[in-house]
Parts: sequence; C-alpha cells; structure tokens
Amino acid sequence: MAEPVLEIRDLHVDYGFDDDPTHVLRGVDLTLHRGEVLGIAGESGCGKSTLAYAATRLLPPPGLITGGEVFLTDREGRRRDILSLGDAELRSARWRDVAIVFQGAMNSLNPVFRVGRQIADAIMAHRPGVRRAEAWEQAADLLETVGISADRVRDYPHQLSGGMRQRVMIAMALALEPQVLFMDEPTTALDVVMQRQILEQISELRDRLGFSVVFITHDVSLLVEIADRIAVMYAGEIVEEAVAGDVYRRPRHPYSQGLLGSFPPLHGPRRELTGIPGTPPDLSALPPGCPYAARCPHAMDVCREVRPALTPTAAGEPARSVACHLHTEDVRLPESLAV
Ligand code: SF4
Repeated sequence: MAEPVLEIRDLHVDYGFDDDPTHVLRGVDLTLHRGEVLGIAGESGCGKSTLAYAATRLLPPPGLITGGEVFLTDREGRRRDILSLGDAELRSARWRDVAIVFQGAMNSLNPVFRVGRQIADAIMAHRPGVRRAEAWEQAADLLETVGISADRVRDYPHQLSGGMRQRVMIAMALALEPQVLFMDEPTTALDVVMQRQILEQISELRDRLGFSVVFITHDVSLLVEIADRIAVMYAGEIVEEAVAGDVYRRPRHPYSQGLLGSFPPLHGPRRELTGIPGTPPDLSALPPGCPYAARCPHAMDVCREVRPALTPTAAGEPARSVACHLHTEDVRLPESLAV
C-alpha cells in the first residue's frame, strides 16, 4: 500500500463553549494513503462534514477542536500537524496541499463574476507571481481538465448547468494541484446521470493527477463506485472501516448493514429496502455503552453497558476494523450471528 498522506489521530470536536458542550467527534482515527479514495459514509448529523472542516481547520464557531492531530505529509516529505500550523503556514498549505469541495458548492460561485475570473482569482491569490492573463489561461485549461469546453471560461455561473457549476468548483479546488481533496457530498444535489459523470471524472482525474480524496456522502452505495476503502461513521465515531467491496458485499457492523439496506443496489436484482428503525441519538445525551444499541436488532445486555472499541476483526479476514461487541472475542454469540 502507498505511504500515508493524511493521518487523523484521536480527533475530538465539541460544539458549544459552555460547561456542557456536545461531543460531535469522539476520537476519530483515519489514514488516507497517497492516490487513494477514502469514502466516509453515515446519516446526517453523524459528524462526517464536521470531520472534513476540522481536518482542514475550517470549522466555524461554535465548533471547537478539543483534541487530536492531523498529520499531512507534503510533497517535500515533511510530516506536519495541520492543527499546529501557524496562520502563514496554514494559508500556504490550504489549496496547495489540501483543498475542499463544499456541500452545495455549485451554489458558492459568485453570480456576478465570470467563472474564469473566479478560478483565476484563486490562482493569483496563492501564486502571487502569476499574471492575470496567465491565470485566465490556466483557468481555461482547468475547465478542459474537468470536461468543460475552454470557451466557457467567460461564462457567468447562471449560463452553466448545475453539473457544470459543480465541475467548476472541482476545477477551482484542483487549481493548485493539492495532494488531498476533501469532497463533502459533491454530487448530492445532482441527478443520477450527472452524479455518475462526475464520479467518473473524479476517478479519471485521480488516476491522471495522483491526488488522494476523502469523499463524504450519506449514500454508501455511491461510494462503492469510487472509493478504495470505506469508513462508516455513527454518532461521531468510526464504527467500521474496510476495503470498499468488503463493506458493500459483507458489512459487519449492524449499522453498516442498515445503511446498505436503505439504498437500492446499483447492480443486480431489485430488493426490498429495509431502512433503519428509529433516529440517530442525541449527541448531547448519549447513553452509556454502544450508541447504536437503541436501534440495533442484535443489541445484547453488554451493549447497553460497555462502549465497543474499534478493533481489527479476526485474523483471516481482509483488513477490517469494527466497533461492535458481536465481533469481540469474549462475547458469546448466537450461532446465526457468529463470524
Ligand atoms: Fe448492536 Fe451491540 Fe454491536 Fe452496538 S455493540 S452494534 S448494539 S450488537
């Protein structure tokens, strides 16, 4: 496996500054390897967008990073903790090393400026030596890179379709050739045909330009199309992490099973969607034990008392970690659930 480019270690985020803050991220550990697409899946409110904003130091108040480290290995091989960088270092690392495509990014373009100007402005802000004409040329090249004809560089955002505006935002994120691209629900507002085109484009660009991607979505079946590995989040924690095909074909955590049962399969015969009963827990009042216990069809007594840790599953399995007592050796399982 390629070397790590981004290592998130024991990351904690709280919302609220008072004596009783809500713990929104609770000790997240993730590693992104060079050239890899890591998918993050989970319901709304599980903390996946907060993870992207915290890891890039873009978390707005009242969000507060209360612990952890986010190591980035840059092109020169230096391994630095993003959370400890000074303002100038952080400004230079953003876009050049790490870029982000925001949720609903296609609505982030300024309606009164041509798209080429908006890309050119981003280039000139980070590369002061680049002249405006040169930046416009680069903007046109970037549009071609994401599959938009260069002659659209002088268009205003309203002259482009939703899919094209989203591609413009991807072009802008790629302008300084970052090593790591966070994409937060980049295709959610698009129809399925456009979703597929953009996914194919991202895969092709990743192969050609060699960047790594953290792709965030609630749609785990979409991730199977693009991700190398998938991490499933629930209540501010990673509850399962494995190679994408393994999560899709044989999810181990009951929540992963519920998520996969909530979306129609992209291939193969139709099946009935089962959904997940109940609602996500209130993060400000989490019960002791497993946060999924109230919704889990396999909950046992131990689940309501002991919080399961994310641990590698039994030897012989492909590399996979799961936070569930069903996969803890000292819990006696009913035969139907034995792994
Ligand atoms: Fe279900 Fe228990 Fe596993 Fe939690 S630890 S997911 S409640 S079986």
